[in-house]
Amino acid sequence: MSEETPAMRAPLAGALTNNETQNLPVVIGVDLGGTQIRAAVLRGAELISRVAQLTGEDTAPEHLIPRIFNAIQQALDEARTTLEQVAGIGIATPGPLDHRTGIVYAPPNMPGWDRVPLRDIFEQHFSPANKGGDAAQLRIFVENDAHAAGLGEYLFGAGRGCSNMVYLTISTGIGGGVIVDGKIVEGANGTAGELGHMTIDRHGGRCRCGNYGCLEYLASGTAIARYANEAIAAGQGVELLEFARALQQHVQEGNELELPAHEAAGVGYEGSPGNLEAPRITAHMVSQAAQAGIPLARAIITNAAEAIGVGLVNVIHIFNPQVIVLGGGVTQMGTMLMEPALRIVQERTMKVPLDAVRIVLAELGRNAGLVGAGALVYYYMQM
Ligand SMILES: [Zn+2]
Repeated sequence: MSEETPAMRAPLAGALTNNETQNLPVVIGVDLGGTQIRAAVLRGAELISRVAQLTGEDTAPEHLIPRIFNAIQQALDEARTTLEQVAGIGIATPGPLDHRTGIVYAPPNMPGWDRVPLRDIFEQHFSPANKGGDAAQLRIFVENDAHAAGLGEYLFGAGRGCSNMVYLTISTGIGGGVIVDGKIVEGANGTAGELGHMTIDRHGGRCRCGNYGCLEYLASGTAIARYANEAIAAGQGVELLEFARALQQHVQEGNELELPAHEAAGVGYEGSPGNLEAPRITAHMVSQAAQAGIPLARAIITNAAEAIGVGLVNVIHIFNPQVIVLGGGVTQMGTMLMEPALRIVQERTMKVPLDAVRIVLAELGRNAGLVGAGALVYYYMQM
């Protein structure tokens, strides 16, 4: 991405080559999110089948978990395989959670969840005793969705061949997954790698996590939309508002709004275009307006990009990674986001770790969550 960063170094041991990938057993990946429930049968990064459903309003575990079981069965049927053929199930879910106990605490976007013993529930459901057989217990692994996506990029995507990698995903929120010496950094109870909640501006506004001036508060899709809507409310956004109205008119006339492939929900256009008086500006609209040259929109994107740059400097100084992999819908904004971010990185990073790092875009795209979930099985079972 940046010509200044050194060329890729020779791969180290630890990552899988393509030949090894073909010999991997089949696994099930489940990607549980506030917007979608997805299940897939996979081999490495290859999706053999994929089932996706909207999560819907009712996220209570007693209603949602049986739907996941159905989605898994559907994915198995579509792949023309059975549970007996799979090596394990990896589940990526929003944190906080502890992968060692498989307990999911209270994810903000999953109302009704409070200390859900997700791994135990799955083990119970997939217990061989339930089937009356004597097969071995199917192994179940639960992991924070950003850690899982990072692991997917590490084993099968942009982080292949390195042993120190940081994954940063920027969409509605900002998450991270850190690999040090080939291992996911978990911390004392599983919450390490919350890169979105590092402080960038100690005088900044209050983040939903309780801290102030977090990267997520300054540079997420939600933040970009918030800055735009605040400027409009303060009477500074006439041009942006007109652009949004025109865009909305376009949608009402039945034209499909072009959404980025990743993370359309949250980062892209939200809600029904019903009210022409006060369109709710989304990050995707700000991005389009910036591309059309509207100064306010450009300033908002540049501001977010510089915050991301500062975050990357911190990440490089703390972890000295070989590769930083950037995922999530916001990173699809291209040069207008990456240029200011990389400029800050060049200006502010110590030379030795700067020379060692490559900053690249994620490769697994919209299936990062599913591939990452499946990757949990390979990682924890050391396949
Ligand atoms: Zn925060």
